[in-house]
Amino acid sequence: MLPVIALVGRPNVGKSTLFNRLTRTRDALVADFPGLTRDRKYGQAKVEELEFIVIDTGGIQGDEVGIDALMAEQSLRAVDEADAVLFLVDARVGLTSADQGIAEHLRKQNKKVMVVANKTDGIDADSACGEFYALALGEVYHIAAAHGKGVRQMIDAALEEF
Ligand code: GDP
Ligand code: MG
Repeated sequence: MLPVIALVGRPNVGKSTLFNRLTRTRDALVADFPGLTRDRKYGQAKVEELEFIVIDTGGIQGDEVGIDALMAEQSLRAVDEADAVLFLVDARVGLTSADQGIAEHLRKQNKKVMVVANKTDGIDADSACGEFYALALGEVYHIAAAHGKGVRQMIDAALEEF
């Protein structure tokens, strides 16, 4: 059985871009239009010699109130199915109240969760990402999904126990 990694987070943080990089397909729709990925999507991923299953999700809407509304059913299921959860945030936008709401939910899960700050290309990642430690989910990983920066290191950490 391959380990399963779920990608969760607000729309537009780069989940589908990361999914495509990990699976090297154009299967997950990538667009500027928030919420375009309506269902969770499974892909077989390969990063160098590392193989795993990755689940892309699209249903956590930033403008809703309450944990149930915030985490759409399909995202909750993806978290349940996963061995490790990559919680993507946007290093350019910074910490949002929707991120805080999602983190509150994820902290209650008995699941390995990693905070992943995406879009760190061309910015000072260390100063942009410091605020994400307030999510109280431990280490903040820096990546640029569009360019592959930081991806190997993040996947190594996600698969550490599996
Ligand atoms: P999703 O809604 O979370 O699935 O986000 P998408 O993967 O559809 O990406 C949303 C937008 O962010 C698109 O315009 C992407 O090109 C852009 N994006 C994704 N990853 C990166 C990155 O590493 N750097 C930059 N600068 N933009 C990115
Ligand atoms: Mg998407």
